[in-house]
Amino acid sequence: MQDRCTDGAENITVSADRAADRAVSSGQAAGRPVSDSAVQGVSGVPEIRISPLGGDHGGCRLVQKNGVFFGRFPILERMEWLNHCFSTRLGGVSEGCYASMDLGPGRGDSDAAVRENYRRLGEAAGFDWRSSVLTKQTHTVNIRRVFREDAGKGLLRERDYDNVDGLITDCPGLPLFSFSADCTVTMFADPVHRAVGVAHAGWRGMAARMGREMILAMGREFGTRPKDLVCAIAPSICRDCFEVGPEVAQCFAEAFPENAGRIIFPGRGDRSQIDLWEAGRIVLAEAGVPAENIAVTNLCTKCNPDLFFSHRVTGPARGIGGCMIEVRP
Ligand SMILES: [Zn+2]
Repeated sequence: MQDRCTDGAENITVSADRAADRAVSSGQAAGRPVSDSAVQGVSGVPEIRISPLGGDHGGCRLVQKNGVFFGRFPILERMEWLNHCFSTRLGGVSEGCYASMDLGPGRGDSDAAVRENYRRLGEAAGFDWRSSVLTKQTHTVNIRRVFREDAGKGLLRERDYDNVDGLITDCPGLPLFSFSADCTVTMFADPVHRAVGVAHAGWRGMAARMGREMILAMGREFGTRPKDLVCAIAPSICRDCFEVGPEVAQCFAEAFPENAGRIIFPGRGDRSQIDLWEAGRIVLAEAGVPAENIAVTNLCTKCNPDLFFSHRVTGPARGIGGCMIEVRP
């Protein structure tokens, strides 16, 4: 129970290479349906909307620009003072099990490839990739407020912090990154104080209410009130895919005694299914975020290995997806 969020994983033997090949053929080369509606990108170049899985993805949409496929939440896009996105596997330069948009430095991929991926995503989604600040995720609920002098940490410069699963800032032009390959990543936006945050939570972080910790931290640092917050949970593992052993189910039963029936469901044998999306929604709502200010995608990383990195599909030899939010410069 100590090493990773997908405790008790049953890995499915799909090779990452094959998944990547299918990703390219299904998403780009083989002409997946690309809708004809285009929206104006931040730098004036149109983004093309794609619908690889149908239209509605639980409050987020997928777009393609310059060959880079990424996602956005309209609930956050309405706020012009901020910028955000989540990556897919499509549009990067990494190879093999990292193909192709791997955003995880130091995981075995080439540094040059990872930096090029950030550059491409930054160009497509309209942020200064060189200023990106990265979490150092170890399944804690530790949160760090970052400033201009932190720009580039984790990507172009050494981090001077460790065990940080959440980042917050009110500094413009500082893209905050958190990562996932099945775990949840939640973005936070406070339009009153123009502050943002991003946080990783696997099952441990979810049971420890990382969302509440983020809201408390933003309250302390920026004066954020929960009722003003707008939050979005990015693609992560769905309930059907997230089967866990009795210890993890027990952990959730103890963490959510009043809402266990909405989060924990029977699985095969002695196993249980955990609904991390619903848990995330509950954590945010009970901390005071209005229901209409919470978006939760229905895109599952494990159900869609062509689109997303999934720990349960490929095991630890893989790339990792990123979620970015910033106060626009
Ligand atoms: Zn799934």
